[in-house]
Amino acid sequence: MQRIIEFDKTHLWHPYTSMINPLPVYHVERCEGVRIYLSDGRSLIDGMSSWWSAIHGYSHPRLVSAAKRQVESLSHIMFGGLTHTPAVELGQRLLKLLPSGLDRIFYCDSGSVAVEVAVKMAIQYQHARGMDKKCKLATVRSGYHGDTWHAMSVCDPVTGMHSIFSGTLPIQYFADRPNCRFGEPWNDSDLDQMRELLAAHSDEIAAVILEPIVQGAGGMWFYNPEYVRQLQRLCRQYDVLLIFDEIATGFGRTGKMFAAEWAEITPDIMTIGKAITGGMMSFAAVIATSDVAETISRGVPSCFMHGPTFMGNPLACAVACASLDLLIENSPLDRISEIETILNESLTSLRENPAVADVRVLGAIGVVEMCEDVDMAQWQAAFVEHGVWIRPFGRLVYVMPPYVIKDHELQSLLDGMKSVIKLMTK
Ligand SMILES: *Cc1c(COP(=O)(O)O)cnc(C)c1O
Repeated sequence: MQRIIEFDKTHLWHPYTSMINPLPVYHVERCEGVRIYLSDGRSLIDGMSSWWSAIHGYSHPRLVSAAKRQVESLSHIMFGGLTHTPAVELGQRLLKLLPSGLDRIFYCDSGSVAVEVAVKMAIQYQHARGMDKKCKLATVRSGYHGDTWHAMSVCDPVTGMHSIFSGTLPIQYFADRPNCRFGEPWNDSDLDQMRELLAAHSDEIAAVILEPIVQGAGGMWFYNPEYVRQLQRLCRQYDVLLIFDEIATGFGRTGKMFAAEWAEITPDIMTIGKAITGGMMSFAAVIATSDVAETISRGVPSCFMHGPTFMGNPLACAVACASLDLLIENSPLDRISEIETILNESLTSLRENPAVADVRVLGAIGVVEMCEDVDMAQWQAAFVEHGVWIRPFGRLVYVMPPYVIKDHELQSLLDGMKSVIKLMTK
């Protein structure tokens, strides 16, 4: 085992880590349900769903058998000039779940790529209408949209470290993050910056892109749905498309199947990913309205200029179908609302800890914002000692467990979380 860890340390890059002095990693043997089994014999209750994705827990028999069945008949085939049943069946299931009006589906490989595709669609849409000047994006601060080039350009400029890439990164327009919290009264001045920005620059802006209701990796912030409802009106007024990035929020996490439903609106373009395959493999999609799809197709060139090698991968489509079947059959929204209740009940006592700045819960997301940045390696080790898998970043300590977590497992997860917070803030 030591040799494996040593090789990893020397040769393998992990997300956002140093190659000279990497953070420690734990060796995983296998996972089942909500349990992560480490090779040293310890087992951890998963609080992260592998970054929003493993909503049905790990090694779900339905997902495993869908993958096995598919890999034996057709693991991959090019999507250029060919199609297959898993791609079509996935599309049919998605149309059942998606906000109505979104019905033109583009499959791609990962969330960041989906964001690139969505941005390209918006720009090509404006091009097709003879509006070539409209080629920039507007967004809000504290967002996260992935690590590729245009996706990065709309991430929060500070946490996304735009300064490192200044000069090469496309410059976009930023308004402050929505201020009105979810569940609190709407204040119309919240939208003032976006109003001014669109009034001044809409001739250069192809689309506004943002994460509806819940900002994820950029700050785990929950805001008033009225913001996006009003924003959609503004976008129409200024002839700008609205893109919702639902890669983190999609498939029930916020308590609705898609966060857009909190605002009861349909954007022009939506990106989905992460939980789409139930966390089994990388896959994503961009869904547009027929207006966007047809406008692009009437332009010159008369087709959308994108087509990744593994587009519509049958294996991923088949697993995604199985994952969506579980979502449709088990209607997890009731369970997510029970999870929300337990998160609220359990975490509320942390508000009394002077080292805690804020506690917020929405759907199956529980966030504890500390007053100061936490030492990730130290906290991570303490969580592992307490039998839970929680990976904090910055000032944020949060859980978003698989929906299949049982009450007693959720209690243990939250007990572990609270014990570590207490220990670290003594
Ligand atoms: C994770 C995430 C992405 C990027 O997805 P990857 O699959 O990591 O490329 C984009 N947008 C949002 C909102 C995300 O949470």
